Amino acid sequence: MPLYEYRCRECGQSTEFRSTMDKKESMAATLKCDACGSGNFSQVLGGVAFVQGSAGTKTPMPPSGGGCCSGGMCGL
Ligand SMILES: [Zn+2]
Repeated sequence: MPLYEYRCRECGQSTEFRSTMDKKESMAATLKCDACGSGNFSQVLGGVAFVQGSAGTKTPMPPSGGGCCSGGMCGL
């Protein structure tokens, strides 16, 4: 289960939680900042480490890929 990191837009306090991709949006919607009580969060991209396949896979990486959403697999 991936770990998501969110940062408060009001004070910069970061928080993280584990969730499935399906539920992370609703989880994020209920977040409250510990420091200021704001619910205004933005996701910190790069806070999630996706494990892509395994070594030795035959699938070539697309030359323009490498970004999180290049394959449409991250759900954003
Ligand atoms: Zn805050």
